[in-house]
Amino acid sequence: MTPKKDTPLYQWIDSHAHLDFDRFDDDRGEVISRAKARGVSRVISIGTRIESTERAIALAERYPEFIYATAGFHPLYMTDDHEEGWRSLEELIVHPRVVGVGETGLDYYYDHTPHDQQRRSFRRHLQLANRFKKPIIIHIRDAFEDAFKIIDEEGIKAGGVVHCFTGGPEECLASLERGLYISLSGIVTFKSAKALRAAVPLVPNDRLLIETDAPFLAPTPHRGQRNEPAFVVDTAHCVAQLREETLENLSLLTLENTARLFSLPAIEVSL
Ligand SMILES: [Zn+2]
Ligand SMILES: [Zn+2]
Repeated sequence: MTPKKDTPLYQWIDSHAHLDFDRFDDDRGEVISRAKARGVSRVISIGTRIESTERAIALAERYPEFIYATAGFHPLYMTDDHEEGWRSLEELIVHPRVVGVGETGLDYYYDHTPHDQQRRSFRRHLQLANRFKKPIIIHIRDAFEDAFKIIDEEGIKAGGVVHCFTGGPEECLASLERGLYISLSGIVTFKSAKALRAAVPLVPNDRLLIETDAPFLAPTPHRGQRNEPAFVVDTAHCVAQLREETLENLSLLTLENTARLFSLPAIEVSL
């Protein structure tokens, strides 16, 4: 068997990674080099708290063509959910290297944070995203019904994405109806994720993003390892197969969609 080799021709954006996490402190430079070597040309580093957002912005400043940041309180990391924290968050949202608000959303799978606190925070993030006209990055786990209710009440003015989408066809269509993008993570490579895999071909070409959510959820064949942006290429291979489309198309459309949603400068693609 010949080893599978990636053509360096295709470019990818990892639309959601946590490069600020301390699990990358020892080898962040190498992680970035490995991503570039596999064609990853951009990574959006997602803030989860004030400090995490500040670190993401610092990374975006250090790697100006490569890393972009977002600002938010993850529903499971709500330690900054106090008025001073919200004031700081507003200041971070308007930073020029911050391309989106979040991640925010609802996670009813874990019990770290009371659900009503998550709902209040999600609503407030939506209001900030609408006020500052930046797209919103939404995390939904076991909470689609409540999440859609809040989205319908607040509205979304500058676009948004359901990141690391874990629903099936029904939740996928309901997200699309609300104008949201769908971002697929390494979970699509797990054969057991049947409902999710059935939803993959339903996402229109102009609404699809891909991501790692690194350091979590490494795709097959890296399952169980620390995830990193280079592995978005493995997810891309799987998504292309499930959608029966070429890698070239998938590369072009995900680059275009991510740039459109987050207002990133255009990338020159040489084919
Ligand atoms: Zn998330
Ligand atoms: Zn995340």
